[in-house]
Amino acid sequence: MSYRIAVIGAGQMGSGIAQVAAQAGHDVLLNDRADEFVQRGLSVIKKNLARDVEKGRKSQAVADAVIARITPSTTIAHYDVDLAVEAATEHLDTKLALFRTLDAQTPARAILASNTSSISITMIAAATKRPEQCIGMHFMNPVPVMQLVEIIRGIATSQATYDFTHALAGQMGKTPVEVNDFPGFVSNRVLMPMINEAIYTLYEGVGSVEAIDTVMKLGMNHPMGPLTLADFIGLDTCLAIMNVLHEGFGDSKYRPCPLLKQYVAAGWLGKKSGRGFYRYDT
Ligand code: NAD
Repeated sequence: MSYRIAVIGAGQMGSGIAQVAAQAGHDVLLNDRADEFVQRGLSVIKKNLARDVEKGRKSQAVADAVIARITPSTTIAHYDVDLAVEAATEHLDTKLALFRTLDAQTPARAILASNTSSISITMIAAATKRPEQCIGMHFMNPVPVMQLVEIIRGIATSQATYDFTHALAGQMGKTPVEVNDFPGFVSNRVLMPMINEAIYTLYEGVGSVEAIDTVMKLGMNHPMGPLTLADFIGLDTCLAIMNVLHEGFGDSKYRPCPLLKQYVAAGWLGKKSGRGFYRYDT
């Protein structure tokens, strides 16, 4: 079964979601606030596909067909889609406004999913007149590579919405895991305090960036160190998630490290901005 899917936000996550949806045979509308952001997302997808062709994982014809299924868009209006996956910046008001717009601009049948890392699906769903058709579909970064999709039910999410989303994630080649709607869900409830603690060890001079990452890689067998991972996730996203955990649980153990706040204030957002705990070629 092939669907029409809108992906809102063409950043790291949205471009990856658009790619896996198109690879699974769906028609995709890839939306962002301005054409330059949509084009940036498309160029990442093209680069990924070119690498797949080079390594013999796909033919050129298949790669061309994937790209042809993705239509760029900068305005959410009259979206005749079966599903919208919102993957815009991790900011509550942005997501609430987008869900209001999606509710108004998609047909009654459409399911509205959010790729949020931490924000309440119940709260996002309440911005719409179809909370039973809203759900969390939390892909991992980088989307084309990572197996997991956390599927999060809001309080009003219907069984039909859950079943559709679960089946679709499987059809996209992913492994869906059901979790409940608590701040950070399972993935970021466990991961992000560890990353925040790694930033505290840097802040307090317990170890250098390299030492902290090496300890966790060689000592704990993590495939990459927590500071590298934070750079890959985006430090603005890490801070937003810590703030949601801190506010959501009202527990000081989730307070974001001041050094994380300072890096974000400086615009050092990690790999996507060229500088975080490490430097990157942009
Ligand atoms: P990003 O900064 O790479 O991309 C966000 C994109 O959203 C940008 O291109 C921005 O222009 C766009 N955007 C902002 N407001 C918009 C609007 N009103 N309409 C359309 N587009 C808008 O961030 P990302 O890493 O792709 O994260 C996106 C979402 O995915 C966030 O909710 C984040 O928490 C979640 N997420 C991130 C990761 C990760 O590892 N980075 C993993 C899982 C989930």
